[in-house]
Amino acid sequence: MQRDIKKILYDRNVIAQRVSALGAQIAHDLESDQFNAGEIVLVPILTGSIVFLADLIRHLPQKIRIGVVSVRSYHGKSTTSKDLALRSEIPASLAGKHVIIVDDILDTGKTLALITSIITEQNPASLKTCVLLRKRIPDTPELHADYIGFDIPDEFVVGYGLDYDDYYRNLPDIGILKPDAL
Ligand code: 5GP
Ligand code: MG
Repeated sequence: MQRDIKKILYDRNVIAQRVSALGAQIAHDLESDQFNAGEIVLVPILTGSIVFLADLIRHLPQKIRIGVVSVRSYHGKSTTSKDLALRSEIPASLAGKHVIIVDDILDTGKTLALITSIITEQNPASLKTCVLLRKRIPDTPELHADYIGFDIPDEFVVGYGLDYDDYYRNLPDIGILKPDAL
């Protein structure tokens, strides 16, 4: 597995430090008055966010619940065109709750936009988004997430939950694949 990696962008220690800081920031925000009433629900988007989620939630001392969602993407002929559909139900009754959507990476923004719009319809008390990685694509406007681990260059990355063809999720670091592994 390691031999398929061309370059490590963030090793496990750097990731652990950043996730800890992000967790502290989220925990601090959750302590504000706004959150004193109402349940807190984290909504991770499967499967890429599982490793990030597992580490992140252990930095949150609050009482939280987790409601997973799963998104299926249909890759078109062009690698950039992608149609999305929900593969699972959105956790029921998020009305009046404080919801934080958690995803592995923000790329075109379609995934977060889809989940955000569906959850907004349920009238949560608040809705925030948290991504481990945000891809910065030159000459395109920067996409918004409330919590961001790292801004990364426009490269295809794997590891720490992120896959290629469902492989490499168990790589503890985040890296760029060698072209011949693609
Ligand atoms: P978006 O909908 O923002 O274009 O893409 C988000 C989803 O695309 C992520 O949840 C992830 O599944 C996938 N994705 C986008 N860029 C990458 C990447 O560089 N590596 C991997 N492994 N998945 C990616
Ligand atoms: Mg994903």
